[in-house]
Amino acid sequence: MSGRHPDKTCARCGRRFSWRKKWERDWEQVRYCSTSCRRRKVGVADRAREDRILRALQSVPVGQMPLSALADDSDEGDCLRQAARRLALKGLIIMSQKGRPVEPRDIRGPVDVSLPTDRCLKRLHLLR
Ligand SMILES: [Zn+2]
Repeated sequence: MSGRHPDKTCARCGRRFSWRKKWERDWEQVRYCSTSCRRRKVGVADRAREDRILRALQSVPVGQMPLSALADDSDEGDCLRQAARRLALKGLIIMSQKGRPVEPRDIRGPVDVSLPTDRCLKRLHLLR
């Protein structure tokens, strides 16, 4: 992080990333943190995952439910976590760890998500 090149947030995975020499010429246009994120972008399936998370938060009874319960298959966990991060960056959900809100771009480890309106009442436990 430097004054000339402030950090950016990846449009796909929602993680924070920093300027690198290889982006010297087009840093203004850079939206993704990696080749993988740039190739995958945010597609229809990803929007559907965001919807699925929001719907689950609006409908689960008080208590916790593992994020993996929302995954169609075991490989989907990462995509759901990225979807959750995008929602948190838009302010649609809150991510917290051990009961405290956390900065979605930098989180590692298990995290809880909830709607901003009901804070910690309804939670999904996001694995990893
Ligand atoms: Zn990314």
